[in-house]
Amino acid sequence: MSHPQTSFRDSVDRMFTHAASLMDLPQGLEEKIRVCNSTYTVRFGVRMRGGIHTITGYRSVHSEHMEPVKGGIRYAMSVSQDEVEALAALMTYKCALVEVPFGGSKGGLAIDPRAYTEEELERITRRFTYELSRRSLISPSQNVPAPDMGTGEREMAWMADAYKRLHPDDIDARGCVTGKPVSFGGIQGRVEATGRGVQYAIHEFFRHPEAMKTAGLEGGLEGKRIIVQGLGNVGFHAAQFLSDNDGAKIIAVSERDGAVMNPDGLHIGDLREHIRETGGVAGFAGATGYSQNSLGALEMDCDILIPAAIEGVIDASNADRINTRLIVEAANGPITAEADEILRKRGIVIVPDMYANAGGVTVSYFEWVKNLTHIRFGRMERREQEARTNLLVTELERLSADKGLGWTLTKDFKDRYLKGASELELVRSGLDDTMRGAFQSMAEIWYSDDKVEDLRTAAYVVAIRRIAQSYQAMGL
Ligand code: NAD
Repeated sequence: MSHPQTSFRDSVDRMFTHAASLMDLPQGLEEKIRVCNSTYTVRFGVRMRGGIHTITGYRSVHSEHMEPVKGGIRYAMSVSQDEVEALAALMTYKCALVEVPFGGSKGGLAIDPRAYTEEELERITRRFTYELSRRSLISPSQNVPAPDMGTGEREMAWMADAYKRLHPDDIDARGCVTGKPVSFGGIQGRVEATGRGVQYAIHEFFRHPEAMKTAGLEGGLEGKRIIVQGLGNVGFHAAQFLSDNDGAKIIAVSERDGAVMNPDGLHIGDLREHIRETGGVAGFAGATGYSQNSLGALEMDCDILIPAAIEGVIDASNADRINTRLIVEAANGPITAEADEILRKRGIVIVPDMYANAGGVTVSYFEWVKNLTHIRFGRMERREQEARTNLLVTELERLSADKGLGWTLTKDFKDRYLKGASELELVRSGLDDTMRGAFQSMAEIWYSDDKVEDLRTAAYVVAIRRIAQSYQAMGL
């Protein structure tokens, strides 16, 4: 049976409209918040391999109720106006939900990055940066890109460097993109941030008995069976933290070339290494099973399903065969609006993308603040903090000795307590706080408003309310 499918943009709009219909927004404001302000399309030529190659790129700005606007740069053949607009809209809602003071944007190039050499990619990226800069679509004060599918630290460093050359007198030039290498103005913990945020989101979900009951889950993460789709930046870090730190079992990983399984849990570090060496999951020695049908792996029985690859992988054609209690949307838009409805009716709980993968933009915000302040987090207070805790510990030990109490503090306690927080620890703390706070704001509405049946609608309601307040404060 064929199903009518909506585009990614329509899917996001449908979810938005459903939430907005439950709210009491002033006439016209719903439309103003929903629409994309502008989308720039550029076609530029790059001389490579003895000829000129024409590359198509986009940068969409969804909402400028807060500036700069923020959003990743994607390199994939799927990149189109519809896709960047959907992703830019999600960025606006995501930033509002996690209280990061940015508007939403997104961009990309319709290329397969694997088809180019490093040198060619650098030339393409620098040229794209020039086109964006000419229209203020990259700038520390107006529009700050970040990595997304097909891009990473390397591309962000090229963009930052290209921007700096174009604006040598801008002292804040490094704040023009986030997700840069630490040695080039980046921040500790940015590469892992989205995956780490997925882990923190699941931790927070597990702290809420009501949410756990709705999903039909019990206990902690230890031994929980998890399936991950896409072992890229986001999927790899999420899978690694959930298995190594929390004792969950990653029973299947689905990649482009197929899926590997192991009911006792796959070793994620080894699997990543295997993918790096061979280009796919096939032939992984640590698996007990392999299937060429990568999408089919999403239908296996598990406790938590984490789509962390691309949009639209769960649609009306497979939603009724999904066999899990909880779906955590690490990717953007992995579930279409039709599938969302089917899954909700089946009682499967969904932790929505705009919350689940917000770790990336949260730590990007920290990086941008670091770039503008030109100082590493913790640099001023770390040793002072250590001196104070040391003073307390020394005094406790002196008192114990004086009074003959015989108290001794363990070495482990002292090592941990006496150490001032590093930048990485501060970043993780800020991220954890953000993920907890955002979940609580969604959960409050989910539990208390009968009209709000799911976490996604709750997330939209929180986000729309905050954006509406900004617009109203501006007099719109
Ligand atoms: P990535 O390019 O590092 O990884 C994507 C992975 O998915 C790759 O391993 C790729 O082989 C795999 N993949 C692609 N198509 C697939 C398919 N059809 N089936 C199975 N696997 C497939 O990208 P990423 O940065 O990890 O982004 C993944 C998702 O997370 C995207 O939706 C992105 O928008 C979202 N996201 C990323 C960030 C970030 O900080 N990187 C932040 C928020 C959201």
